[in-house]
Amino acid sequence: MLFPQFKENPVTNLHVKLPKIGAIPINLHRPIPAGFVVKQVRILRKADKWYASIYLQCNVSVPDPNPQGHPIGVDIGLEKFLATSDGVFVKPPKFFKQMQSKLKLLQRRLSRKKKRSKNYEKQRLKVARLYHQIDNTRKDFHYKQAHALCDAGDMVFMEDLDYRTSAKGMLGKHMIDAAFGQFRSIVKYVCWKRGKFFAEVDARGTSQQCPECNGEVKKDLSTRVHDCPRCGYKTDRDVAAGQNIRNRGIQLISTVGQTGIESACADDLPGIGVTQSRQVSKSRKRVTRNPKK
Ligand SMILES: [Zn+2]
Repeated sequence: MLFPQFKENPVTNLHVKLPKIGAIPINLHRPIPAGFVVKQVRILRKADKWYASIYLQCNVSVPDPNPQGHPIGVDIGLEKFLATSDGVFVKPPKFFKQMQSKLKLLQRRLSRKKKRSKNYEKQRLKVARLYHQIDNTRKDFHYKQAHALCDAGDMVFMEDLDYRTSAKGMLGKHMIDAAFGQFRSIVKYVCWKRGKFFAEVDARGTSQQCPECNGEVKKDLSTRVHDCPRCGYKTDRDVAAGQNIRNRGIQLISTVGQTGIESACADDLPGIGVTQSRQVSKSRKRVTRNPKK
């Protein structure tokens, strides 16, 4: 449900006042900062919980982060959740596997219940709650990793892969599970928020190139080490990919400059409304920005 307009501030510490519905008790996670106006309220239901997502507006112009400082190329994948050009690895967290097997168990139980029966509804809710929990846990993990990247560098580069297309292939399920697209959106947003430069680079052949001499070094998925026969550069396969991404990022900012690069903002963050708010913020992108939270 979307409430697109408010004459006066509908949010107090205890309630949100919705047109035609009235004051609904809320758990306010953080106060509305001074100078911000409530633009929209979107009510969402996830599992058996209700959320009010509040869009704020403030007419300030926030400068786009400049490309400067230490660059980091980030390669993301299945075996390692991410590998950076500085040689940092992050493994996929174990708790996802545990939660996945618990989910399977709950789903199996659900399939044995008679549809539309009371027990079926009870079990369906259990499944929905766990889905919701997995979703939140993953998002939390993504935010922490995004902040860690911003701690480590001043510019972050990632591949412009359309993760949704690769999700259709043989790697399908895992790709969706790892939710790479969501992670990239979060990295983009966290970089914007912290004043770090973010850009996407051409993803073609980042795993088949030598970051030192730029020569092609063919490897299939099972080859875990990059070992260049031309220049002798040897490193982990995913680190090499991260370094290629970093090199392409540096090349991008030196050739295109800033003008050709989309500035990062919260537009495509998961959980944030797409239709109306996106159009509004797109058309104003170059003038002001609507800080949303
Ligand atoms: Zn080489």
